[in-house]
Amino acid sequence: MEVLKNDRSAARAGRDSEFDVVIIGAGFAGLYSIYRLRALGLKLKVYEAASGVGGTWFWNRYPGARCDVESMEYSYSFSDELQQEWNWTERYAGQPEILKYLNHVADRYDLRDDIQFNTRVVSAVFDRDTSQWTITTNQGDEITASFCIMATGNLSLPSVPKFKGLESFAGAWYHTGLWPIEDVDFTGRRVGVIGTGSSGIQAIPLIAQQAEHLYVFQRTPNFSLPANNHPLDPEYVKKIKSNYAAIREKARKSKFGNARYDSPQKSALEDSPEERRRLYEDRWTTGGLNFTRTYKDLLTNKEANETAGEFVRTKIREAVKNDTVADVLAPKDHYIGTKRPCTDTDYYETYNRKNVTLVNVKESSINQIIEHGIQTENAEYALDAIVFATGYDAVTGAILNIDISVKGGTTLAEKWKDGPRAYLGLMASGFPNLFFITGPGSPSVLTNMVCAIEQHVEWLSDCVDHLRKNNFRQIEADPQHEDKWVDHVNDLAANTLYPSAKSWYTGANIPGKPRIFPIYIGGFGVYREKCIEVAAHNYIGFSMIKV
Ligand code: FAD
Ligand code: NAP
Repeated sequence: MEVLKNDRSAARAGRDSEFDVVIIGAGFAGLYSIYRLRALGLKLKVYEAASGVGGTWFWNRYPGARCDVESMEYSYSFSDELQQEWNWTERYAGQPEILKYLNHVADRYDLRDDIQFNTRVVSAVFDRDTSQWTITTNQGDEITASFCIMATGNLSLPSVPKFKGLESFAGAWYHTGLWPIEDVDFTGRRVGVIGTGSSGIQAIPLIAQQAEHLYVFQRTPNFSLPANNHPLDPEYVKKIKSNYAAIREKARKSKFGNARYDSPQKSALEDSPEERRRLYEDRWTTGGLNFTRTYKDLLTNKEANETAGEFVRTKIREAVKNDTVADVLAPKDHYIGTKRPCTDTDYYETYNRKNVTLVNVKESSINQIIEHGIQTENAEYALDAIVFATGYDAVTGAILNIDISVKGGTTLAEKWKDGPRAYLGLMASGFPNLFFITGPGSPSVLTNMVCAIEQHVEWLSDCVDHLRKNNFRQIEADPQHEDKWVDHVNDLAANTLYPSAKSWYTGANIPGKPRIFPIYIGGFGVYREKCIEVAAHNYIGFSMIKV
């Protein structure tokens, strides 16, 4: 590693605007990309808009932020030393612990050298004649690189709805995904939270404990499952660590990039109502997202899904003392699992507190934000602070936030105007040498994303290595293979209940965004095999041009 570091420094000193690879983003994906590509001896430049590493875990410092894939699996597997030496303290690590972990990784592998923080990439233009990307940033940088890697994240472009009057609000406002580094203290304050997705549902119970009064502005209720978070038992950790290699391998072959839970084999309709209730109860008590994997057909069969949905609605009615409030909290507009299910600690119970009011903005929508609070169609709520837990322009948002084009050709925004198209979710035809990590058309957000990220980074770094060793200067996805892959992704989704929901999965949360389900649903293990096969057969579906 030391030799490589010295080589890089020498190279950088020589031509500091010309690079082999530019990586945009320094979260889980960007950091691992640096590690892998540096090992190939490449000269890298990494731009990160934040002032530190961590991506999601840098930005989401809101109270209660934690992962919902178990920490022992929501972590890198590429280094046995790393996974043996790091000690997770909770079943689901909180944001500070995950951020500490990612900082540890950056330090341990000396990854910071190549990163320029506080810098946002604004454009990327490819020149087919030179096979170079020209990258420009909001800090006035202009560099060239042979390859451009979008490690920009699926949930990294926060969405603040354009409410009339926000600029007139006299209090403080926050977005969960842009949370300040300094502590925010809601003690003695009247707080409004807009949004009840995973972020809102994690934050609400904790804000309620601090605030003088909390108003939750809910448009659509979500299904939330108890996390049953707890400190990790050292014996359990020891057991996992002694068997980590096999566990990680199982995750790589699994449907969701997760080894702990096997894929269900039975239909919900094969069991008697009593047996179903017993199984649901069991998983409800164990906690976590595994509830939605109780039966194999929960996301394909409406009747099967309803058995799980009704079970959760009954739990909500049991937890919430006021029947009217319970009814407003119980989701009836979508099938459980078709929007990303949330996991929580005491979310529903929070509505039994005297200082918490649920405001149903489906019934009476938010008119505007006024100087002293929020005005709905039929009331005004005086507030000192507003928390927007309103989500993200997901999957494509951060990619299209960069003006990506090919000289003399088209823009990526134009190519994707009716929805994203990418072969294997890795590359878009017409845009050579541009790689997406967990891009649209890959299993991405339906998996344990660290597992998916590692697989993509390994695939693309092997690909870059192959190109260099064989004197190729350019790789590009073939349009026919891309079309076939996009059709395949769409066909698989059409056979499920997913597209029926108005969710960020389908882009329905962003006005004007094309409605499409751009996530490969056929299972992570199957997808990974397909990627291996493509590479093994001389990159089927990609064209390569020699130097
Ligand atoms: P990110 O972590 O999003 O990092 C992308 C980085 O790119 C960001 O730091 C951003 O600033 C930077 N960037 C973007 N555009 C530019 C630009 N133009 N110029 C410069 N920099 C740019 N997934 C799971 O599998 N399990 C979980 O439990 C889980 N929990 C989550 C909790 C929250 C609150 C959120 C929001 C997401 C969660 N996710 C979870 C998804 C999570 O995003 C991924 O697991 C993972 O962290 C993504 O890593 P990444 O490096 O791909 O992207
Ligand atoms: P989200 O799921 O998109 O939720 C956004 C919420 O804001 C929804 O309730 C939405 O209501 C509401 N909203 C948006 N615009 C609104 C408006 N104009 N008026 C009123 N309400 C409005 O976003 P998120 O909660 O940030 O979660 C995004 C994803 O990040 C999750 O699904 C998950 O993948 C990940 N995440 C994971 C965790 C975790 O537990 N590990 C935690 C946080 C986030 P509608 O539904 O009516 O649009």
